[in-house]
Amino acid sequence: MNVTTEFLKQKEIESSRLCSEVLLSHQLKKSRVELYLEFDRPLRSDEISGFRSLIKRRINREPLQYITGHQEFWSLDFLVNPAVLVPRPETEILVEEALRLKQDNLLPDSASGQLTILDLGTGSGAIAVSLAKEFESAALWASDISAEALAVARENAEHHTVSERITFCQGDLWQAFDNSPVTFDMIISNPPYIPADTFDTLPAEVCSYEPRIALDGHEKGMHFIERIITQGGDYLKPGGWLLIEMDPGQTEQALELIDATQSFRSKARLMDYRKKYRMVKAQKNNG
Ligand code: GLN
Repeated sequence: MNVTTEFLKQKEIESSRLCSEVLLSHQLKKSRVELYLEFDRPLRSDEISGFRSLIKRRINREPLQYITGHQEFWSLDFLVNPAVLVPRPETEILVEEALRLKQDNLLPDSASGQLTILDLGTGSGAIAVSLAKEFESAALWASDISAEALAVARENAEHHTVSERITFCQGDLWQAFDNSPVTFDMIISNPPYIPADTFDTLPAEVCSYEPRIALDGHEKGMHFIERIITQGGDYLKPGGWLLIEMDPGQTEQALELIDATQSFRSKARLMDYRKKYRMVKAQKNNG
């Protein structure tokens, strides 16, 4: 284990100790605690060769999460594969803010029926499933342009036993709702927002392995953010909320776009755990 950790470190793999432990526990199908309990058991040759091939994949910069097939988000276990973006910790602030809006009674009048929430561009389903777990009687929608991503999201919903409350829709952003007249109390989205011309400068783990379709926001990274803001009002109930993740440098322009629509009565930006503006929220007016 120490040899492997040193090797990974030399190859400039982040968190090399953790990485070697996670890969070994994946190979042996044991928890990391169990590894410590039997740390002096010699490995069989098939276990060694399996472990070596996992290490090789990681050295080639394949994200740990695609190798193990799992990522934790909102303290829940999510299945991931290269059809979906690996859920990031900063995206949890979208879930956190949705909960706060509810706690502070800022959602549209709940007397009018069941709470309706959309996760637009759901990917692995991390946001939709986490919200389904938190809002126990809400009805959720999860959309994505990618059928492969929706298959992963569905699997995660089933795994967490919330699939009966989530409607999965395929389509390019709002097109997924072309034929359904539904409006939402909350629309939450982590859209692709990396500027196309900086895509190749991302870490190899991201630009060589994660789905470009989930990351590339075209010019200035604003293409999807702009479409979400300009049409979002049409899909919200009066007093409903739009919550969008973005790059800190995009928040200013997003706030201007929100003003330009004249569909929203208030707006704000919120910081992530690293104290960077990571999210913009806006409340639809009553008109
Ligand atoms: N935060 C992600 C990254 O830096 C980008 C996510 C996205 O485009 N939605 O890789």
